[in-house]
Amino acid sequence: MSYKCSDCSYKGTQLSQGYCPACGSPCYRRINRVYREEDTKRLSTLKILLLISLWLSLAYLVYEKL
Ligand SMILES: [Zn+2]
Repeated sequence: MSYKCSDCSYKGTQLSQGYCPACGSPCYRRINRVYREEDTKRLSTLKILLLISLWLSLAYLVYEKL
């Protein structure tokens, strides 16, 4: 779990008793989940492109055999 401070944009994995360790602000966001969703989206787009290219190459090979 990562956190980002809203006041000083400090990023870290630990808070000191619920406050930002850099500036002491209680305003922070959890950022781990957002990055994980972006990674999943990027990965699925890559998988779809790979799937399309494999189907196109298969169709081309079948067409060559006919
Ligand atoms: Zn801070």
